[in-house]
Amino acid sequence: MKISTSKLNTYSDCPRKYWYSYELFIPTPKSEAFWFGGAVHSGLEAYYKKKDGFQGFKDALLQSSGREKPAEGINLEKLEEQGKKIFEIYPKQAVYFQPILIEHRFTVDLVNPETKEELPAVLTGKIDLVTVDGYIVDHKTASKELSDDYQTNNLQVNGYAYAYWKIFGQLPKGVIFNQIIKGNSRREPVIKATNPIKPTIGDLCFFFQECKSAIDAIVRKETRDYPNPNFMTCQFCQYKNICSFKHKKVR
Ligand code: SF4
Repeated sequence: MKISTSKLNTYSDCPRKYWYSYELFIPTPKSEAFWFGGAVHSGLEAYYKKKDGFQGFKDALLQSSGREKPAEGINLEKLEEQGKKIFEIYPKQAVYFQPILIEHRFTVDLVNPETKEELPAVLTGKIDLVTVDGYIVDHKTASKELSDDYQTNNLQVNGYAYAYWKIFGQLPKGVIFNQIIKGNSRREPVIKATNPIKPTIGDLCFFFQECKSAIDAIVRKETRDYPNPNFMTCQFCQYKNICSFKHKKVR
């Protein structure tokens, strides 16, 4: 079995949501954030490979729209304009990360760092950038700054730190969110890196246990019948219109 931090995040939100997404494979329309974030990632990949970042952004947007028609309301011209502004200011505002790995895909075994217990699954994923001095950088495109809660209580941080530990045999110096905060009609875009989060071996063990619980439930086919309805999760769930467990607001 292959597990990724996206799958783990979905399972942690709601096991039934995992069932819709990864067992029934019910497609959902891609959001504007998905289109824009994907293209910005491609642009940054080009930038850190010393190519033209905006061209990389535009090519990715064009390729994605060639593969799939954007949902109604997604304006590619507006996204291109926003991308242009971002790649104009990026070299002036962003911290320069000296990369050793860029958009690095990984597949690693799942082993408890302390007890050496092994799980019957591998962890797969992609790290946006690893610096020569041992930091993991995750590019985050958003319309506002990430909350402190998001930064500290994050499966992604521990998952990336775990993958780094398996690849390099030591903990990363830290995990940094490189925030690309979109502009709007009144505000220019802002590029702002968070302070590094420093996962410990204890965090990696905790991550291992979270993988173990999720994998156990998936193998036992328990995801369908274990919804986790709460108002906020259901509000933003792509499957709320078909799910009979959806949390109903009590008046
Ligand atoms: S609507 Fe709520 S209960 Fe149903 S799958 Fe989504 S998050 Fe889970």
